[in-house]
Amino acid sequence: MKLIHSRSPDVIVIGAGLAGLVVASGLQRSGVCVQVFDKSGDLGGRLATRRRSEGRWDHGAPCVEASSEAFRKLLESLREAGSATLTGEPAGALTRYSGAPDMRALLQPLRERLAMKFDHEIQGLTATTQGWEVRGQVRGKAFVDQAPALVCTAPGPQSARLLVAENEAAGAPGACVLRELRSRLSAVRYSPCWTALLRFEQPVALSSPYADAVIDRVRPWSMHEQGRTRHWLVQANSQWSQTHLEASAADVAEQLLEAWRQHDGSADGQAAGLQSLRAHRWRYARCSEPLDGECWWDPALRLGLAGDWFVEPDAQGAFASAQTLVETMTGSWLGADAVAIAQ
Ligand SMILES: Cc1cc2nc3c(=O)[nH]c(=O)nc-3n(C[C@H](O)[C@H](O)[C@H](O)COP(=O)(O)OP(=O)(O)OC[C@H]3O[C@@H](n4cnc5c(N)ncnc54)[C@H](O)[C@@H]3O)c2cc1C
Repeated sequence: MKLIHSRSPDVIVIGAGLAGLVVASGLQRSGVCVQVFDKSGDLGGRLATRRRSEGRWDHGAPCVEASSEAFRKLLESLREAGSATLTGEPAGALTRYSGAPDMRALLQPLRERLAMKFDHEIQGLTATTQGWEVRGQVRGKAFVDQAPALVCTAPGPQSARLLVAENEAAGAPGACVLRELRSRLSAVRYSPCWTALLRFEQPVALSSPYADAVIDRVRPWSMHEQGRTRHWLVQANSQWSQTHLEASAADVAEQLLEAWRQHDGSADGQAAGLQSLRAHRWRYARCSEPLDGECWWDPALRLGLAGDWFVEPDAQGAFASAQTLVETMTGSWLGADAVAIAQ
């Protein structure tokens, strides 16, 4: 893919989930040179798809719900591009969409012509007199980059950790603002979600109900053959996930398999033979205590924050927060600096 810029970026965006991609593509449309970093190997964030030789699973959100006009418009444009599909029955003002063929595909059109670097984990952000310096690791090697402005879309507690304490030393640019910001961010809370990814040799059916003391949701993935499929996904509820937060993935996978077996009705899950079993921990799955406001932008520091920890704790909230940040940045910062950036 051809990258659009040969000059150094005007804005570094951390995160290639929904919020990061909406910010990056929105700024790019305004003529800003953007560089996106994500620690994962691919885009999507919590709208991701796990692909392995034995199959694939949408192990984060299975779908997104749109009730606002703006989010529906985005999803309809993604549907026209063939990367989204309607799912389930519309419920009142809500329309549900999932990615086609998987959730990872949902965000593909947003990445068009964006400069993105994956497997780049940012470990520290320092405000300088020129803007921002980001430091991180890519496959065990350290890297540094800088830009006049920075947008971080990592979940609130992760963003707080990245804004390292050195920023608060006396005389450092924006020290007071950053100290206050870090303390506000530390109040954001998320609930975790342990998820097990199961694959059977033969298609398996499941009886209901799904929810119990351990399980929140059970979802089939890929080929339904009269309600049967080889791939299943078990999401533990937030309380169970919290209690087992630091347990090993192998132990959690076994316990979620056991919980699944309480629901497999005919016990044909055993008969079908388990082919593979993995567990994934979402430490920051759903935001339970968000911040007030729709996003955060400090024009003096040129620091922006957006994500599902503002407004509403879901995909629509992440989108709304990102869109508001783009409007704020293009209105204030770009309005003032448009000439400089265009040069
Ligand atoms: C199991 C589960 C089920 C869900 N179900 C639903 C649902 O049914 N409906 C719904 O609307 N929402 C659901 N959600 C929530 C929804 O997925 C999120 O609200 C939404 O995807 C958040 O988008 P975001 O861009 O704000 O954050 P994210 O998608 O988390 O994006 C943040 C990105 O930042 C990157 N990042 C973080 N730290 C660093 C770092 N140090 N360096 C570089 N990159 C970094 C991450 O890798 C990630 O890609 C669910 C989530 C989970 C986990």
